[in-house]
Amino acid sequence: MNKTIAVIRGDGIGPEIVNEAIGVLDAVAKKFGHGFSYQEAPMGGCAIDSFGVPLPDSSLETCLNADSVLLGAVGGPKWDAQPSANRPERGLLKLRSAMGLYTNVRPARMFSDLAAACPLRSDIAARGIDFVVVRELIGGLYFGEHTTFEADGEQKAADVCSYSEHEVRRVARVAFDMARKRRGRVTSVDKANVLDTSRLWRRTVEEVAKDYPDVELLHMYVDNAAMQIVRDPSQFDVIVTENLFGDILSDEASQITGSIGMIPSSSMGEGTRGLYEPIHGSAPDIAGQDKANPIGTILAAAMMLRYSFDMAAEADAVESAVDQALKAGLRCGDILNGDGKLLGCKAMGAEIRARI
Ligand code: NAD
Repeated sequence: MNKTIAVIRGDGIGPEIVNEAIGVLDAVAKKFGHGFSYQEAPMGGCAIDSFGVPLPDSSLETCLNADSVLLGAVGGPKWDAQPSANRPERGLLKLRSAMGLYTNVRPARMFSDLAAACPLRSDIAARGIDFVVVRELIGGLYFGEHTTFEADGEQKAADVCSYSEHEVRRVARVAFDMARKRRGRVTSVDKANVLDTSRLWRRTVEEVAKDYPDVELLHMYVDNAAMQIVRDPSQFDVIVTENLFGDILSDEASQITGSIGMIPSSSMGEGTRGLYEPIHGSAPDIAGQDKANPIGTILAAAMMLRYSFDMAAEADAVESAVDQALKAGLRCGDILNGDGKLLGCKAMGAEIRARI
């Protein structure tokens, strides 16, 4: 198969980690007989420097015309003083919205060789952590009306949270489809004992579930879910939830697996095109020093293979290469503890490539 991938290297460690992910994709293309071509799409601080805006129209066009988009990270202190409408992150929000990416998928998987980095008690970690948080990305509280006003002699503020059935239905379908490819269980998280939006969420998820009789559906209140993720994460397979709850729970889920440098994420809309990136930022403190862990970005490329290109064997090959590198004791600085072998970003990329 031939695929065109838009590449946003971004700022800070972005270019370093994206280079290694591209190296791994090239190794996959060679082994499995595919052709991947890459089109550069400058975005973030580097685009502000060159074009005056965080997402030039030409970059947006490149992303919209590609089969999928691979992103490093954007932002950094150099651009912190930009007016908020022209900050690097604005480029990312504009891109998500233009691509219609309404679902964010973030796996929380603990590599057995990194169990020591898990902050949970060892008997809990020993049960394993392998679940996915499917978060609604362009609705709810973050996209409702925000107002601050004067009333009764003091300042008041309000943020509107609203959901419509179709917004819930489409993200629920992503979760059920994903559960079918995993262990067949969806936990829908809401606050239906208090919120109308949650009651609508629950009713709609139950409607969608009728099309998936082979998938088990459970409901959980968000406060309980926050506790259960640290009490017994092994109970979860796919968690689906709205924007605000998903923002918080997906960060909690990432934290319990160990390093921020290991975790990929994908954002999807209609069709197969997605935006794939590591969950971390541009790490300006280690940029340009060959210290960044490229594994989150490499695993994001694996997600692209699996979910956008329907290349399951190829994705398995990448994930297995990462597993093997970790089993061999190879570590970047962020995941080194004990007697592993310390590697830089480039060397880690090369070791993973060699195991494809
Ligand atoms: P960060 O994720 O960039 O860094 C937090 C800490 O984790 C730092 O100590 C960093 O060195 C370390 N770290 C992150 N990724 C690593 C990796 N791959 N390997 C090894 N160590 C790693 O978060 P921050 O410092 O709060 O943000 C820095 C910049 O990134 C800010 O401008 C922020 O706005 C931006 N940001 C961008 C995105 C994105 O592009 N999607 C996401 C989050 C933050």
